Amino acid sequence: MTEHRVITARPVTDVPPVVEEQLDAAERAGLKTRIKRLMQAQDACLLAHYYTSGDLQDLAIETGGCVSDSLEMARFGHAAAAKTLVVAGVRFMGETAKILNPEKRVLMPEIKAECSLDLSCPADDFAKFCDQHPERTVVVYANTSAAVKARADWMVTSSIAVPVVKYLHEQGKKILWAPDRFLGDYVQKATGADMILWQGSCVVHEKFKAEGIRALKREHPEAAVLVHPESPAEVIALANVVGSTTQLINAVRDLPQPTFIVATDNGIFHKMREAAPGKLLLEAPSGGRGATCVSCAHCPWMAMNGLRNLAHVLESGANEIHIPEDIRAKAVHAIDRMLDFAAASGVTVRGTSGD
Ligand code: SF4
Repeated sequence: MTEHRVITARPVTDVPPVVEEQLDAAERAGLKTRIKRLMQAQDACLLAHYYTSGDLQDLAIETGGCVSDSLEMARFGHAAAAKTLVVAGVRFMGETAKILNPEKRVLMPEIKAECSLDLSCPADDFAKFCDQHPERTVVVYANTSAAVKARADWMVTSSIAVPVVKYLHEQGKKILWAPDRFLGDYVQKATGADMILWQGSCVVHEKFKAEGIRALKREHPEAAVLVHPESPAEVIALANVVGSTTQLINAVRDLPQPTFIVATDNGIFHKMREAAPGKLLLEAPSGGRGATCVSCAHCPWMAMNGLRNLAHVLESGANEIHIPEDIRAKAVHAIDRMLDFAAASGVTVRGTSGD
């Protein structure tokens, strides 16, 4: 007998508008030159998320850094010799980089770059919730603060969530899942596990509309539909591929279809175009009839990262990430459990939210 209950999360109401950095060619070139000089002088490595601007993604590659999901960004930073990691993404990504690299300085272009999943799950509320369910194994998604990870038994990315929960279910464990309700629902259906779900959601992925995707599919019957599992169940039901950021990029490269309808942050198109230059990529509709989107297929917090604030933090040393050692030591335990499981089972862990 399985149980599938839900828990109310803290509402996230103050979502900022999407404001993209606007640069002319001369300013872009000047900033890139300045940043490269500063990075070299400070022995810094740039780790950019797939949802950041093309300028940041290009600069990360040009300077020997990486463009990836949050966990791979942190792992790449660990392998790099650089003493400073600059994380262009949202705050939990900077924290994850610091958790895995305590000896390195971790800077972020914008410290106010949040994530609605992280915001929906304050550590104090989450700890009380866990205390009410001591019999459950606590599994949290990567899009959480260091303090929430510290309270968890396991941290998972979207690409390994199903195998981990399936394994725990087979061990007879009941699951407390946080914070993404749609990913939790997807994992519950895939595994049949007994799960109670924190009710967080991603402001980008929750807005994709099944009706709009069906209409676009009628116009492009040849298209494959790619969906990130932070999306609502009716959107996931239309997918040819449900997967993490990395899995969706690989699908564009590997599938034979010439056209793709993509239900994730449109920042990912930069890498998808590189991976499959001849293919037509269409944004899954998040507007249209019944639309309530604020961000409309782009994360407002990811958009806060730019070349100007990157140059500023390198010059000022501002926005450094600090995590108390007792929290970091507990949080790394939840991440290590997942990495050990992945190593033992051969499952890849790349790809979180979005990330
Ligand atoms: S796109 Fe990613 S970082 Fe932005 S709110 Fe959604 S899950 Fe969080």
